[in-house]
Amino acid sequence: MNPDRKESGRGGGPEEPKEQILRGLPASAGMAIGPAYLYEREEVFVAERTLDEAEIAWELTLLKDAFTRANHELENITEYARERLDQEAAAIFESQIMLLNDPELFRAIERRIRLEKKNADFLIHQELERYKALLITTNDPLFRDRIPDLDEVAQRLLRCLQRKRLRSSVEGKHIIVANQLSPADTILFSRNDVLGYATDLGGVTSHAAILARSLKIPAVVALHEATASIRTGDPLIIDGHRGLLIIHPTPERVREYEKKIERTRALEAKMDGLVHLPGATPDGRTVDIDANAEFVDECEYILAQGAGGIGLYRTEHLYLLEGGFPSEQEQYIAYSTIASMMYPRKVIIRTFDIGGEKLTDRQYEEENPSLGWRGIRVLLDKPEVFRQQLRAILRASAAKNVKLMFPMISGLAELRRALAHLEDVRRELRDSGVLFDQHMEVGIMIEVPSSVFLADLFAREVDFFSIGTNDLVQYLLAVDRTNDLIVELYQEFHPAVLRAVKHVIDTAHAAGIRVGMCGEMAGNPMAVALLLGMGLDEYSMIPSVIPIVKGIIRRTPFTEAKALADEALSKTTSAEVRELVASFFASRYTDLWQPTNSGHVPPSE
Ligand code: PEP
Ligand code: MG
Repeated sequence: MNPDRKESGRGGGPEEPKEQILRGLPASAGMAIGPAYLYEREEVFVAERTLDEAEIAWELTLLKDAFTRANHELENITEYARERLDQEAAAIFESQIMLLNDPELFRAIERRIRLEKKNADFLIHQELERYKALLITTNDPLFRDRIPDLDEVAQRLLRCLQRKRLRSSVEGKHIIVANQLSPADTILFSRNDVLGYATDLGGVTSHAAILARSLKIPAVVALHEATASIRTGDPLIIDGHRGLLIIHPTPERVREYEKKIERTRALEAKMDGLVHLPGATPDGRTVDIDANAEFVDECEYILAQGAGGIGLYRTEHLYLLEGGFPSEQEQYIAYSTIASMMYPRKVIIRTFDIGGEKLTDRQYEEENPSLGWRGIRVLLDKPEVFRQQLRAILRASAAKNVKLMFPMISGLAELRRALAHLEDVRRELRDSGVLFDQHMEVGIMIEVPSSVFLADLFAREVDFFSIGTNDLVQYLLAVDRTNDLIVELYQEFHPAVLRAVKHVIDTAHAAGIRVGMCGEMAGNPMAVALLLGMGLDEYSMIPSVIPIVKGIIRRTPFTEAKALADEALSKTTSAEVRELVASFFASRYTDLWQPTNSGHVPPSE
């Protein structure tokens, strides 16, 4: 365990509890101060029991009733998710309703109650465990991705059968502290005045984390010891930017955070004026400042934040929410909706980047998933799925504001195979008279180290690059982006990362193509001037930081940024680079943003 995980500070007095700081992973931005509400899911125990003949009819009634109740609960949650968020969030629960309504599930349990004379809860548990075992043994990650949903459905059914109530609600404003939260908990608590979510377990790409971000509720996950250290009512501060949970904060700490929260509010108000201004430096260099998007419904917020377009639309969330690959038509609807909502601004749609650590609360059985069956590798192995997606993207490009991007490209042969599929699909569409943008730009993510070295070859075959630092840093430095034990080693300002980024930008420019960056580094305020000076053309980031990045660009002469980049590239360690960018930052931008970390926190998406 990271020795820095837990820190203690001064308490307010001898008998006052001591301040304690837990470090986790930032899953949803924002800060809040408030009392804890310790949420403990009541364990549902299942014991095997043999029924008397006379009990069987009653057991069957209970079973039916449990299915009806579970269905009813899930329908209510789905409706609420649809109202509060969007159809995509609701789809998380719709897929659980589908599981629950699989007629074979009910029939199998019913049959076994009659034949084996066992109690319903025991058989529900057995049947769902059996189903789960089947999913685990299949080699298809698409099936295995459904296991958390299956667990959720099993727990809900058992609770309904045993008439146990789930108390995902709380009076008054609280920070919810739990071992783990399900998507349903996240949604249900949000009906109250919840200030934040802090969990022992969980990853930043879990359904619950995604929902917390969409709900704009601060969340910190992977705290490991939160539930063991906290009682309901304990005063807390949650810092979703830095991934911190502060227990029994000292009065000074509370004042510090009150000021930070106040400053953030004031800054948001001040940033309003920047929204419609371009990302231009005082000496006339213009860069694109775009947003990374996951959900169609984010567009309104993205536009309100002043994004010039969408520099990365991660389509894998459609896959996640559908619980499998969505149909061409479903994709077409999503892509054309986002394209028309953003029109005339551009939208870069990235083909599914599934596999690796993405989109699963559990790892597949691959020994080394991040180096495994992931991104373009999956798509090339599933040509039907790939072509369906390409067709949907091309169809959505008719208004000419869509670009296409491939993830995880590591070699020329791979790129050419992907382009050949694209060419085939283009031909098919042309032959059938379907409208699309014949000149739609095609680019690749530069996120695998080999692609850095092959950038000159790639630049001859595609229209743009987008540097994915989230993966590039992980692969370049051999530091797993999801492993919180080595979080200190995940360094965006590592000299190797800087050299790689600079090489890619220079190579692309020599070939006459543009370079963007859509990894978290692009939205790290500390990195903005440095990247500007290196010559980056387009920044794409989580929408909440767009005004800050724009503010920095608008007050940074390109000549000064260039000098900063040159100096940074001459440094030999991450610490030296960080020190340099931090002092550049401190002398210019602290009224726009208060540095909260040194830039090596792994990406939260
Ligand atoms: C990246 O790797 O930097 C990136 C933007 O892609 P993702 O985070 O979706 O892997
Ligand atoms: Mg990536």
